[in-house]
Amino acid sequence: RGFCGPHGQPPPLLDPQDIVATWEAISLGRQPVPEYFNFAHDVLDMWSQLEKAGHRPPIPAFWWVNGTGAEVKWNFEQLGQQSRRAANVLRDTCSLQPGDRMMLVLPRLPEWWLVSVACIRTGVVMIPGVSQLTEKDLKYRLQASRAKSIITSDSLAPRVDAISADCPSLQTKLLVSDSSRPGWMNFRELLREASTEHNCVRTKSQDPLAIYFTSGTTGAPKMVEHSQASYGLGFVASGRHWVDLTKSDIFWNTSDTGWVKAAWTLFSAWPNGSCIFVHELPRVDAKVILNTLSSFPITTLCCVPTIFRLLVQEDLTRYQFQSLRHCLTGGEALNPDVREKWKSQVGLELHEGYGQSETVVICANSKGMKIKSGSMGKASPPYDVQIVDDEGNILSPGEEGNVAVRVRPARPFCFFSCYLDNPEKTEASERGDFYITGDRAHKDKDGYFWFMGRNDDVINSSSYRIGPVEVESALAEHPAVLEAAVVSSPDPIRGEVVKAFIVLSPTYSSQDPEKLTRELQEHVKRVTAPYKYPRKVTFVSELPKTVSGKIQRSKLRSQEWGETRGSPRK
Ligand code: ATP
Ligand code: MG
Repeated sequence: RGFCGPHGQPPPLLDPQDIVATWEAISLGRQPVPEYFNFAHDVLDMWSQLEKAGHRPPIPAFWWVNGTGAEVKWNFEQLGQQSRRAANVLRDTCSLQPGDRMMLVLPRLPEWWLVSVACIRTGVVMIPGVSQLTEKDLKYRLQASRAKSIITSDSLAPRVDAISADCPSLQTKLLVSDSSRPGWMNFRELLREASTEHNCVRTKSQDPLAIYFTSGTTGAPKMVEHSQASYGLGFVASGRHWVDLTKSDIFWNTSDTGWVKAAWTLFSAWPNGSCIFVHELPRVDAKVILNTLSSFPITTLCCVPTIFRLLVQEDLTRYQFQSLRHCLTGGEALNPDVREKWKSQVGLELHEGYGQSETVVICANSKGMKIKSGSMGKASPPYDVQIVDDEGNILSPGEEGNVAVRVRPARPFCFFSCYLDNPEKTEASERGDFYITGDRAHKDKDGYFWFMGRNDDVINSSSYRIGPVEVESALAEHPAVLEAAVVSSPDPIRGEVVKAFIVLSPTYSSQDPEKLTRELQEHVKRVTAPYKYPRKVTFVSELPKTVSGKIQRSKLRSQEWGETRGSPRK
C-alpha cells in the first residue's frame, strides 16, 4: 500500500484538513513515516482530487510571470498533466531509470518546477544547480554526481558543451528553448508531443529524492543527499507554522532555483495546498520586487536578508502591497536594523528561520511567537536542537557552543542521508549524540537561539570571542552603512583584531574616509560592547558573495592572513 491509497489508483477522497493534519503529524515526528511515500502521487495527485471536489479556492497551484507580460497559471490538475508529460520525456526519451541522477540548471522558468515533479514521478534523483555556474563548476558537479542527464537553458548550454566530453556519465542533454542546438534535445517540443498518461513509480520513503551541492561558503561544495520523505514530508509543519501557509495563500520566494530554498518552498507550499508564485527576475531589482508585490495578490514573501537590505533602502511607504500579510527570511543572519525598518514602513514582522542544505528548518520564528530581535527563533520540531561542546555535551543556557541537532538514539527522518561518497565527512559531522552544524550560537533560558557565526568566522581577540554578525549588525545601524562584513585580521599584540569591510550608502561615499572610520568605530562602541569595535576598517564597493547572496567572509579572511599562512583556526 502507498501512503494515501493503493498505488496506481486514485487515492481515496478525504477531508483536506484531515489529510494535511496527517502529513503535519508525520512532519512533527508524532506519527511514523510510511514505508512508501511519493510526493507526486501522495501529495500532488491528492490535491488534484481535492481541487476537483471543490475543496480549494479557485487560485492556481503554480503562477509564473516574467514581468513583461508572459504568464503561466496551472491548477493542480494541469500541473499533474504537464508533469506527467515531463515524466514520460525523462523515462522514454532520456531512458532515465529510478535512482538515475539528473542535473537541473535553469533560471526561474516553469520547466524547473515541472521537471522537479517529473523526477519524483520517475524516481530520478534531482540535482539542482544555480545558473551562474561556470564551466569548471559544471564539470565538478557532473563528474562528482555522475549525472546521466542535464536540463538547462540557452545561456548555459555552451558551457555544458565545453566540458561534456570530460563527463562520461552524461548521456542526454535537454534544452529549454524555443530554438534548437546540435547535440541537444528540445524539451519544449518533446513536452508538447508527450502523453499525459504516466504511472508514478513506487518509491520507498528512504529512497533518494535530491542531491544538493552546499553553497560553498566555506570551501568546495559538498554533496548532500535527501530522501523522498526527508524533503517530501519534512517541510509540512514548518510550512504551516513558520511560513503560515494555507490553501488560500500565494507564496513568493525569490530564491534561485538552484538553492535549497526553492525546494523548501515547493515542499512547504504544495502539501498545504498553497500557490507557488514565481517571477522570472533575471536580475535582482528592488523596484521590480516592490512593484510585483503591489500588482499581484501575493500573501507571503520570502527573501534572503541581502534582498531585504536592498528593499529597505527604497521609500517603502510609496508602495501599496495588495495582499501581503506574512514575511520571512533566512539563509544568513538578519540584521535587527533591517527588520525594524521593514516593520516600521510595511507594518509587517520579518520572521527569520535558520537551516542548512543538510537539514530542514532547524530554528524559526513561527507566526504568532514573540520575536526577540536578533534571535533566529526557537528549535523547530521534530528537531531536538542544543548547544553542545566539541565532545557533544549539552551546555547551559547562555553558554556559547556548537549548534547541534540530536541524531541518536534516532536520526530524524527529515535530515540528510549522508554526504555522498564521503563517509569520513558524514562521520566527522557527528559528536556524541549530535550532528554538528558548524555554526556557533547560544540559547537563552527561554529557548531562543542567538547566532554568533560560522565556526571559522568567530574572532578571537585578546581572548574575547567575537561573533561577526553582532558587529556587522551594529555597523548596519549607522546610516552610512549599506552592508558590512567583519573578519579577523592579524595583529602583533592581540593576535587577531576585528576588521570591517564596509559598503557605503551612495550618499556617504564622498566623505572623508578617516573621519568616517572614527565615527563608525565610536558608533559600534556605543551600540554594543566596546571591545567588539573594528580596529581596522576598509571601504569597498562590494562584498564577496556566493551566488545565493551569502557573504563569503572566508575569502576576506584569507586576504587578510595571506593564502599560505592561513588564518589561525585553519
Ligand atoms: P558550505 O557548507 O559549502 O560552506 P553553506 O553552509 O553556506 O555552504 P547552505 O547549506 O546553503 O550552505 O547554508 C547553510 C548555512 O547558512 C548555515 O549553516 C548558516 O551558517 C547559514 N544560515 C542559514 N540561515 C541562517 C540564519 N537565519 N542566520 C544565520 N546564518 C544562517
Ligand atoms: Mg554548510
